[in-house]
Amino acid sequence: MIVLENVSKSFATGAPALNGVSLKIRKGEFVFVVGDSGSGKSTLIKLLLRELTPTSGTVIVNGQDVGKLRRWRIPKFRRQLGIVFQDFRLLKDRNVYENVAFAQRIIQVPNREIKKNVPAILSVVGLAGKYKAKPRQLSGGEQQRVALARALINEPSILLADEPTGNLDPKNTWEIMKLLEEINKNGTTVLMVTHNRDIVNTMKKRVITMKKGVIVSDEEEGEYIDEN
Ligand code: ADP
Ligand code: MG
Repeated sequence: MIVLENVSKSFATGAPALNGVSLKIRKGEFVFVVGDSGSGKSTLIKLLLRELTPTSGTVIVNGQDVGKLRRWRIPKFRRQLGIVFQDFRLLKDRNVYENVAFAQRIIQVPNREIKKNVPAILSVVGLAGKYKAKPRQLSGGEQQRVALARALINEPSILLADEPTGNLDPKNTWEIMKLLEEINKNGTTVLMVTHNRDIVNTMKKRVITMKKGVIVSDEEEGEYIDEN
């Protein structure tokens, strides 16, 4: 499902952000990526999204060579991916319904389908009653659940999450984690970058640890490894 073969990514200045990274993630896995700030975690996510292309090596997602995708194929490629960030990235002037519906409008789902799909996904994330609210009227945890609904409504095969609980208190963090676990149980592959030691040590999933652009450990049912 996800394969990196000897992937490096350099920017104009500084040491390479990724330096010879190889890994394989099978369909339906739940994987944490941990490591110090600057170790290359977000760069890895961006290569999977084709926000960046590798300097060398190959990135394969669902059988497609992501670095070689032609520009016009990128939007369709990204439909296979759900994406969640630390800072939610909601449309501030639109309500919850419209934020989630937006993901379907851009791929031209008919309105009558959208009217069924949005309430269904909002009830999955526990926000059925809040469809009219604007983002500023919601707590951080609720905003992240809207972002999650938006990421999931087009039924992606892979969910990529870059520090999705970084701005949340412990209670909301665990609510998001429960949802991610449920989503994963229903077959979606989940790749989550996090600094939260508690989550990683409690959930007993595969843990990939990065340091200075390389993978320094990759363990099934792993733990958060100290960075020194
Ligand atoms: P992490 O997400 O683990 O904190 P990143 O993947 O964001 O790390 O960054 C890895 C390294 O690459 C850092 O040294 C960072 O400064 C550098 N880097 C990331 N993006 C860019 C960019 N667009 N231009 C230059 N350097 C970058
Ligand atoms: Mg990052």
